[in-house]
Amino acid sequence: MAAMRVRFWGVRGSATAPGAATARYGGHTACVEVRCGDRLVILDAGSGLRPLGLSLMAEADGRPIAADIFLTHCHLDHVWGLPYFRPAYLPGTRLRVWAGHLLPDWTLAGVIGRLLGEPLFPGGGALFRGDVAFLDFRCGEDVSPYPDVTVRTDALRHPGGGCGYRIEHGGAVLAYVTDTEHDGETLDPAVLRLAENADLMIYDCTYTEAEYPSHIGRGHSTWQHGVRLAAAAGAKKLALFHHEPARDDDALDAIAAEAAARRPGTFAAAEGLSLTLPE
Ligand SMILES: [Zn+2]
Ligand SMILES: [Zn+2]
Repeated sequence: MAAMRVRFWGVRGSATAPGAATARYGGHTACVEVRCGDRLVILDAGSGLRPLGLSLMAEADGRPIAADIFLTHCHLDHVWGLPYFRPAYLPGTRLRVWAGHLLPDWTLAGVIGRLLGEPLFPGGGALFRGDVAFLDFRCGEDVSPYPDVTVRTDALRHPGGGCGYRIEHGGAVLAYVTDTEHDGETLDPAVLRLAENADLMIYDCTYTEAEYPSHIGRGHSTWQHGVRLAAAAGAKKLALFHHEPARDDDALDAIAAEAAARRPGTFAAAEGLSLTLPE
């Protein structure tokens, strides 16, 4: 019996990539829907959050919703869907948005307030009519939003900081580790903890090993390193994620095939793809 359902709404990194050449894997940036029974958890608020919001509105038949959105960090590709999340404009909607990388220099309310404020967005966040809370924690803390949904966190290696997540519910485990850069051959102990025996590990595979040397320090990893991490952590499945925006569908097909040959159970995340955990 499936305890958790995972659906990808945005799988790109850095910039959106619409167009015919990326139509199959999709052009929206990071956003993953996670259903833990009737609890709704959303990982990152990239541009994929907009179509997710429309889907939730349709499912709830216009009634308000409740959700927790966990942000890995606040780079634009992970937050710019927020102003377009329609359920936040419904009175009665209860939304908690969480981030763990900002304290002590920043707060999430302050950072998102700038994104939602004039002159960047007309009317600003004051237009949100639901009960929307912006909550800060410190990466490394457990921030379980419900007694039956455990969310463990750990700091990732990314410019400005970032936070990886491990969500546990009803015996299912999902690891969400994106926007992180590996350190040579070293397997990051924080990532190994997050992904240990996970049913699914979602990992930053922006680059190939051949491309990586000219991108050192940008804060992203490779699919080859992701395969090594997944094997060492004992993760059952690995989703290659945060696709480089210039990577077209054919190139992603080739990477996915090579990665799956190296470690069965590996695939490239695609918009609209849905999985249940554990199988
Ligand atoms: Zn990103
Ligand atoms: Zn980033």
